[in-house]
Amino acid sequence: MADSTLRLYDTKQQKKRPFKPLIGKTVRIYTCGPSVYAYSHIGNFRTYLFEDMLVRYLAFKGFYVKRVMNITDIEDKAISAASDKGISLSALENSKAKAFFRDFKNLGMLAPNKVIKASDAVPDIIRLIKRICRNGYCIKEKDGIYFNTRKFRGYGRLRHLSCREYYGKAMDDDYSKEGIWDFRLWKYWSEKDGATGWDSPWGKGRPGWHIECSAISMKQLGDRFDIHCGGVDNIFPHHENEIAQDRAATGKNPVNFWMHSKHLTVGKKKMSKRIGNVLYVSGLGKKGVKPRCLRFYLISERYRSKLDFTFAEFKKRLADCIHARKMMSELRKCKQQGSGTAGKHIATKLLQGFETAMDDDLNTKLAFKRIFRIFQEAELLMKDGVLSSGDAKHILSAATRIDSVLGVLGLS
Ligand SMILES: [Zn+2]
Repeated sequence: MADSTLRLYDTKQQKKRPFKPLIGKTVRIYTCGPSVYAYSHIGNFRTYLFEDMLVRYLAFKGFYVKRVMNITDIEDKAISAASDKGISLSALENSKAKAFFRDFKNLGMLAPNKVIKASDAVPDIIRLIKRICRNGYCIKEKDGIYFNTRKFRGYGRLRHLSCREYYGKAMDDDYSKEGIWDFRLWKYWSEKDGATGWDSPWGKGRPGWHIECSAISMKQLGDRFDIHCGGVDNIFPHHENEIAQDRAATGKNPVNFWMHSKHLTVGKKKMSKRIGNVLYVSGLGKKGVKPRCLRFYLISERYRSKLDFTFAEFKKRLADCIHARKMMSELRKCKQQGSGTAGKHIATKLLQGFETAMDDDLNTKLAFKRIFRIFQEAELLMKDGVLSSGDAKHILSAATRIDSVLGVLGLS
């Protein structure tokens, strides 16, 4: 039965709030998907695993979940990566998306209800830009159509940007106008775009990056939906710009909860090709790291907390999970006669311990701590020969339910 004991941290309000769907029992979630210009590394997958955890836990709580994810296949970097390789943008998209979904599946993640490529959403994107322009938020520049952030009151609220920051700093990305935060909605075609381009009321060109998520999320989930997720690096400017676009078009605040996961560091450093510490699921696989073990590691810390990957720490943390899995198989073999009362008690403790930890903004770290401790209690009873097959059945049933969310105990 769906209830609202769940509290989630909202980046915009900077606090935990009780969660309740906007309409009925269905939770509508939008999660920013991968860009196809590079392979997704394990830090990216930490974010996707947090989203997987959220979706699975909402289902555990009795909600119906509709999750939509985009694939960014027409951004500047993807176009130049395709041209550097001498292949078409769709060939690049096919190979990178294939690798992404292979890792996604291997890490035990549930597929989103809908995955939409930006290139398939261009008519919706054009319609949305037209609405934004009609409402007076567009500026025509020599290379494209920009969103006029100075016209939009409340710009910077997601990132909690001060006025000084807003006016005093230049934005440094491919989509913004020099010196101010205005960002591109539509870029006019130029020769280096090659075959990539669509006709629009502003001439041939292609959308900016930020607009695809606004167009896809609102088309699929409505002008107001429940949760929008991403990594902390998406907060600004990407999600800030989404809010500006959505509100400029509809006059409504698009999202009820904004949720963001923290970066993963490797050896206490941000992953970077320059340092050479970028880790991939397949690369770790070759070093003997099984995807399901990696899944455990990446969710063993709450999504908003720091997490650092080293092989030593990975091995250390994994030991508890392996022990719990062994315990599961021991329980399945249990043939001892008895009442099952102790098992019932342990199963209740397991479920309650798990649920109260997860209700507190998906505190997976605490959930695992409790699960492993309760397993130890069961193990002691088993060693003393006082745990019956009836007890084991109760414990296994609770653990299976818990593992429908965690997906690491080897039972789902
Ligand atoms: Zn996005």
